[in-house]
Amino acid sequence: MDSATSSNCRRAACANPIPPGLITEQLCLDHFLDEAFVRTDQALESWNQGAPVDSQSVDWLLADALAVVNNLEAGADDPNPDQRERMLDLLLSIANLHEYAARHPLSTLPPS
Ligand SMILES: [Zn+2]
Repeated sequence: MDSATSSNCRRAACANPIPPGLITEQLCLDHFLDEAFVRTDQALESWNQGAPVDSQSVDWLLADALAVVNNLEAGADDPNPDQRERMLDLLLSIANLHEYAARHPLSTLPPS
């Protein structure tokens, strides 16, 4: 049994607790933001290069946005200015991606 690891960030050498809004991600807020920024950057870059918008990407964009909003609400009475700014930056990036996705039809697998 190794239940002690469930309440801390899954990144090695990171002992930060997981906020309630990120239980499904198993990441502390800092590492979640790191990963989410990488995801949004990669999506934006590949979409700008003409890669198809797939429904899976749109799904995690929604999930990330929801997680950020949950954390903003949860931390409203104990704001950390740096983290708050990063979360707002991330929401802006996600909003831009959503706008892009909304203008492009979702790619579907060709019938075989
Ligand atoms: Zn962490």
